Amino acid sequence: MECRFCSGTGWWRPERPHRDGSGVIVWLRVDEPCRGCAGTGKEHSPVAAL
Ligand SMILES: [Zn+2]
Repeated sequence: MECRFCSGTGWWRPERPHRDGSGVIVWLRVDEPCRGCAGTGKEHSPVAAL
């Protein structure tokens, strides 16, 4: 079963707030291993129906 958080890619791309040199908050897109499946792309737990 594919991970419902990353659609099986094992990665997700959240946006993180970052304050630049002039104090302006900008949003940076970052790549991280999916927290829902620890980067495997597979759904581990049987709670997908929730
Ligand atoms: Zn995932």
